[in-house]
Amino acid sequence: ANHVPLSPVSFLNRAALAHPDRIATVYGGVKRSWSEVRHRCRRLASALRGLGLEAGDTVAVMAANTPELFEAHFGVPLCGGVLNAINTRLDADTVRYILEHGGGKVLICDTEFAGTVRAALAGMATPPIVVDIRDPAAPGEALGAVDYEALLAGGDPDFAGGGPADEWDAIALNYTSGTTGRPKGAVYHHRGAYLTAVGNVLEWDMGRAPVYLWTLPMFHCNGWCFPWTVAAKAGTSVCLRRVTGPAVLDAIAEDGVDHFCGAPIVLKMVADAATTPLPRRVKAMTAGAPPPAAVLAAMEARGFDVTHVYGLTETYGPAVACDWREGWDALPAEDRAAKRARQGIAYTLCEEVIVGDPATCEPVPDDGATLGEVLFRGNLVMKGYHADPAATEAAFAGGWFHSGDLAVRHPDGHIQIRDRLKDIIISGGENISSIEIEDAIHHVPGVAAVAVVGAPDERWGEVPVAYVELGAGGAPPSAEDIVAFCRTRLAGFKIPKRVVFTTLPRTSTGKVQKRLLRDRDDGAKP
Ligand code: ATP
Repeated sequence: ANHVPLSPVSFLNRAALAHPDRIATVYGGVKRSWSEVRHRCRRLASALRGLGLEAGDTVAVMAANTPELFEAHFGVPLCGGVLNAINTRLDADTVRYILEHGGGKVLICDTEFAGTVRAALAGMATPPIVVDIRDPAAPGEALGAVDYEALLAGGDPDFAGGGPADEWDAIALNYTSGTTGRPKGAVYHHRGAYLTAVGNVLEWDMGRAPVYLWTLPMFHCNGWCFPWTVAAKAGTSVCLRRVTGPAVLDAIAEDGVDHFCGAPIVLKMVADAATTPLPRRVKAMTAGAPPPAAVLAAMEARGFDVTHVYGLTETYGPAVACDWREGWDALPAEDRAAKRARQGIAYTLCEEVIVGDPATCEPVPDDGATLGEVLFRGNLVMKGYHADPAATEAAFAGGWFHSGDLAVRHPDGHIQIRDRLKDIIISGGENISSIEIEDAIHHVPGVAAVAVVGAPDERWGEVPVAYVELGAGGAPPSAEDIVAFCRTRLAGFKIPKRVVFTTLPRTSTGKVQKRLLRDRDDGAKP
């Protein structure tokens, strides 16, 4: 039968055939064409075979956003391997847990993270073979016997490998951020990775030869699957080891960047640094946490074209996007930013996303007010967690994937997240969305970031407490200023009972770890 399994590896082959001389990767002045990158991926695949890798074996990578990590997205599956790109900000114990749980036979390690990796390997009974990425920009200890470039030099540039035997073969293991607990390994399949890449191209109007800047960690949901997405368009990946607002603007000015993705915190850094007009239209996709309307408005005022998407590790990254069309341009900028702050409707390729009762999975009314859990079903949902049948069963109760996010659905079909199930504050029997309070506080000048959590209270059960990070420059607001501002925007029971100025604990993607704030004893309990 004429059936070729879907796999994003086909994007590499197509890009190298159709656009052999087009630049695929840029990093620190080194540019490589698609033809060169395909040779390097083939060398990597054949060298991994030489190290004893068999089909279905895991290859772990601990690396910054470098061309090597990009190459691993193709080289590992080319030899039938499963990529496990580990979050570089994790502590040694968690890295060891992921290596042991995910079963890495080979670990490709950027010297910048050698300290953590050394400590992680020390406690392992059968440590993986370590391959070092030695980058002059990241001095650090080399751990293994093998150097990445030497490994490639010994590989076969014409190694054909093969596509997967079945499109449901695993292509990657993706451990969740661990914002709410122990990381779980979502299993990605060739088919899902392929469809997500196509979905991103569709929903983001990626034109010809996009030049994409890596500000989002490539390990997180496999960089929302953008290594595969950019390859689908034979675009250019500009890699950046350190992300700052000025570094992003330099890459836009110097490398021709016209697309990037980032958590709202990255958008804020860029908006704050952008003082001159952009040299071209630049599209920014954001997700990972609710983007404050104030940040979206600032990006738009600087000339960025922002797309807001929503998804989870378990949905291969984005699976929901805003789709405003009719009358959009006629809306005042403030209304556009407020609408864009909604999460949106299902990607064309992700069949169903509903807001439903978590117990019955019945949809709640589309009235923009009734709370329910966001439930997914379709192509862009993982099949399960690696070696964790209990967690898989719980996540798919009732035949839907349970996101753990609480939302309302508007009559036009767009969903709007109100909170995580675990973060919603219940005060005197009322549900309070921490996101709504955060959104209001974001408008107070001098506030850089804010997280609102529930603190135990004898009378009300819980009350909202705001943890505020202040920005540089200008007169900082006082706790009273913040409370006074909230009074102008929010109902009385939603006003924070206390405001604590602090540095917010964050995950690698810039997400605030509210769990740690709740555990903190700052004397914050009112
Ligand atoms: P863990 O599952 O380990 O606790 P995590 O939930 O942070 O970690 P991720 O898959 O990294 O795992 O993040 C997905 C979550 O991020 C979503 O469930 C949602 O709460 C939040 N999120 C992602 N995009 C958006 C968005 N556009 N708006 C609001 N929240 C978002």
